[in-house]
Amino acid sequence: MSQILFQVWSPARSGKNLKDKLRKNSQVKVHLKQIPPEGFHLEGEEDCLIPELETEGFRCLGPTQYRIDIGVSEGSLWANGSLKQPIELTCVACLEKFVYDIKVPAFALHTELHGPETVNLSPFMREDILLNLPAHPRCDREGGRVCKAAAATMAAAAETKRKSDWSALDRLKLKK
Ligand SMILES: [Zn+2]
Repeated sequence: MSQILFQVWSPARSGKNLKDKLRKNSQVKVHLKQIPPEGFHLEGEEDCLIPELETEGFRCLGPTQYRIDIGVSEGSLWANGSLKQPIELTCVACLEKFVYDIKVPAFALHTELHGPETVNLSPFMREDILLNLPAHPRCDREGGRVCKAAAATMAAAAETKRKSDWSALDRLKLKK
């Protein structure tokens, strides 16, 4: 049923080249007239909604996944659900790339309707995904692995300590 209610415009499927794909964003549109009074559940995937970030060191690793309940009441559209976007981030400490899922566990929107036949959910989804993007990604925090930069710092600290232990010992020897 949601296939009929929904018209998803996707640049990847519209036959445009890759440049266009990076410039334009996918759109998840709802036809208002066809939303039943009890609302409906929408679940699916759409082309990565934040492709423009690819020039800033991020890389989309797959489509944006969404599970949303949508309804209309008293001239407003409401929606709530969850979103997920797998991306590749670059660790600020070791500069290595790692995989991360941007998760929006409580996606919610409530917007007044001003008569258009369709509402594009994509800008709302994009905004929430961007809000959940780690500002200073670290592979040990977001990536759940040992950061080489942090490990190197610890090894250097251990080395310094070892050397100072030896020099203390050397001083002891000299005193004899
Ligand atoms: Zn790291």
